[in-house]
Amino acid sequence: MTGDERLFIDEAFATNWIAPLGPNVDAFEREFGEALGALPCCATASGTAAIHLGLSLLGVGPGDLVLCSSFTFVASANPIRLLGAEPVFVDSEPESWNMSPSALRRALEVLSSAGQKPKAVLVVNLYGQSADFGSIRPICEEWDVPILEDAAESLGATCLGHPSGTFGDISAFSFNGNKIITTSGGGMLAALSTERIARARFLATQAREVAPHYEHREAGFNYRMSNVLAGIGRAQLRVLGNRVATRREIFARYSQALSSIPGVHFMPEPAWSHSTRWLTALTVDPKKAGTTRDALLEALARQKIEARPTWKPMHLQPLFAGCKYFAHECGGFTRDVSARLFADGICLPSGSSMSLPQQQRVIESIVGVMSRAPSSRCTA
Ligand SMILES: *Cc1c(COP(=O)(O)O)cnc(C)c1O
Repeated sequence: MTGDERLFIDEAFATNWIAPLGPNVDAFEREFGEALGALPCCATASGTAAIHLGLSLLGVGPGDLVLCSSFTFVASANPIRLLGAEPVFVDSEPESWNMSPSALRRALEVLSSAGQKPKAVLVVNLYGQSADFGSIRPICEEWDVPILEDAAESLGATCLGHPSGTFGDISAFSFNGNKIITTSGGGMLAALSTERIARARFLATQAREVAPHYEHREAGFNYRMSNVLAGIGRAQLRVLGNRVATRREIFARYSQALSSIPGVHFMPEPAWSHSTRWLTALTVDPKKAGTTRDALLEALARQKIEARPTWKPMHLQPLFAGCKYFAHECGGFTRDVSARLFADGICLPSGSSMSLPQQQRVIESIVGVMSRAPSSRCTA
């Protein structure tokens, strides 16, 4: 928290707006939309709710297929199943760790030759970095499939100079406690058209028709944001730029101190991308480092340092066993990139309030663990 959140919360209490919706929600939607370059927005109870609503707005329903990034958190994919549709998972590319354009193209070709057309492509932006929309958008336009952009982890990033979350026909954001800015829990749906946002608000408030009584023609949700929490979001939005700068500094210190360790590779940042470095993520190649990702995680845990493995891809989850999957393709060969990123990937402590001595302790612990690893000892 920055301290200013209390001003907006106090205002909600003073005016007795303790309800879903209210002046803070209206203002938060307006201010958030302005930060994206004047996009219409609808504040939601969570990022997951925004994805569920977004897929509903795109007409996803029973029996439909939705292409979805495999390397992600389960919240991206769950709403597909909740709507009775089936996910088809798409691998990552090594350049950005996000959706592989070559795998996406092959998925569309293979489905098309079987007479199937997906209802949407759900593209996820991981660890503060946008997917390669310069390549992905033309492919989706060519195949006439709308994009739902999961920007839960990439608020504040840019792709080709444009804000992340402005490339999808519909985009979803999250303000969960772990994200770069938070309302404790909450989300946002952004769309190119105001009609779509009007429909999002309608569906998110139980799809109540205009009538003096309670009239309903279709099933809706109770997915709107609380006026108290929107107050927190308004203050948080004002420090987004500082947060991005801080997270990038944290990343820079880690990579400066650890990049020279054999087998350590930090998440790359392609020329078209400006990442927030929401989390500092890297891979440990066990053949070159002489240690594994899991051994490093355990060693850090013993020193009371909480690091995490990267997301386990959806195509490897028991929940999605049997779903179709398209691996990355390069030079005529396919390669399961996301499986590798999961096997070797680790996210380091990256909180915006992390102090320099705290970060130094993490760095020294990693150097200590990895310099004891057999391969490094040989080269030393
Ligand atoms: C956090 C997250 C979500 C879900 O957001 P909630 O607000 O927690 O529901 C969705 N997708 C990704 C990639 C996330 O990291």
